[in-house]
Amino acid sequence: MASKILIVEDSPITRIVLRAKLARAFYTPLAAEDGASALAALNETRPDLLLLDLELPDMSGLDVLARLRADRTHAATPVIVITACTDRATRLAALSAGADEILTKPVDDELLLARIRSLLRRSADLPAPAGGDHATGFDLAEAAACYEHPGLVAVVTRCTEQRLRLARDLALRTGHRVTALSREDVLSATRPEGPRPEAFVLDADADTGLHFLSELRTRPDSSHAGVLLICAGNGRAAMAFDLGADEVVAPDVDPEELALRLAALVRRTRAAEQRRSSLNDSLRLAMTDPLTGLYNRRFALAELSRIAAEARTDATPFSVLLIDLDRFKSVNDRFGHATGDIVLTEISRRLSANLRQGDLLARIGGEEFLLALPQADLSEARTIAQRLCDAVKGDAITLPAAAPPLTVTISIGLASGQSGEAIDALIDRADRALFKAKAKGRNQVATALRAA
Ligand code: GH3
Ligand code: MG
Ligand code: MG
Repeated sequence: MASKILIVEDSPITRIVLRAKLARAFYTPLAAEDGASALAALNETRPDLLLLDLELPDMSGLDVLARLRADRTHAATPVIVITACTDRATRLAALSAGADEILTKPVDDELLLARIRSLLRRSADLPAPAGGDHATGFDLAEAAACYEHPGLVAVVTRCTEQRLRLARDLALRTGHRVTALSREDVLSATRPEGPRPEAFVLDADADTGLHFLSELRTRPDSSHAGVLLICAGNGRAAMAFDLGADEVVAPDVDPEELALRLAALVRRTRAAEQRRSSLNDSLRLAMTDPLTGLYNRRFALAELSRIAAEARTDATPFSVLLIDLDRFKSVNDRFGHATGDIVLTEISRRLSANLRQGDLLARIGGEEFLLALPQADLSEARTIAQRLCDAVKGDAITLPAAAPPLTVTISIGLASGQSGEAIDALIDRADRALFKAKAKGRNQVATALRAA
């Protein structure tokens, strides 16, 4: 769906011109002629980005900005201030109020569209946290990021003297640790291990500067870092945004503006990093069992279907084992549930330690595990199953407090995949084999009958 861009502008001519430009670039333009209708339009249309004039008939654009940033629903919406005003105080006030960019009229089309693309890309790269409201998640992540330790920033400009001066000045103004590095230092494969910069300040003296920027973006340790580029010329700035610069400023930028932009960039980079890691955490939580760290039942069943489908395609065998601890209830009864948990964790560790990469081990019930062995036929699976029984029974498990070391055993029901057989039926055969292993005295492996 085309992104919706709200133009907040009192001049009808400017509104019409901007509308046309945005429509030509395949956006959906919306318009408001004053502050009040802009605030109403925000809630009615939920735009993806705002182009905001500062001089409005009923209130200042800065007031609109302040109201928007204070409203959780829109706090993360990117705002480009477009103004005829070029004075330092106005720029600083707009940035402090939360503007993402300030462009002066008459606006350069190429630069405006590149900046819009870069800000919309940034919103798209920051997925909303699972189950949460987008803006609320952003607020919390950003708030948390603000109170953290000082960040590490690297200034990588060409001229050594300027680099050192800039690093010192930015450190003083932002409170971050700012180091001065050469491009060679940053790209060097033998760079000493240590914290990676959260943000870079670069210059684009010639095309080599843009080249360096795209090199940073392709490297895993800097692909998500914030990048602020100092460069002259609208065309080059537009290209820098498309290559992944987060901020672009002119060489004669006011030092305070530079510091403000850098501080905001570090905050945003951290908030994005926290979002990414909490997203990874939720993905991990959704597929793993918290006690043992093994995969959970839901994930295991989905994976098993994939393994079965792959085996069918490649005409290779695969086997499934259901593993159940023997007389585990008595472990809980004798030593308590917490000790039972320690035993479960240790058994999981022993099972995992005896598997190949590509095998799938999951805890699918209280003291019951499922193991899928791709490529393994019945006889190979039997060998592995016996090895697992031996590994579990082998050394007694050390228990906390004064409890004596404990030896536990497992029983295993084993079935090999048969062509055309449903996953449920395969698991059912393994389960019946497990029942057989239990009935025959436990601590052993039983093989399922072939399906009829
Ligand atoms: P069998 O040899 O026939 O499998 O006997 P069993 O005692 O292992 O089997 P049963 O199904 O009777 O009991 C399983 C026990 O596993 C009961 C339950 O208290 C315990 N259990 C299930 N989940 C957990 C858990 O997360 N932690 C602990 N500590 N115990 C658990
Ligand atoms: Mg049991
Ligand atoms: Mg059981």
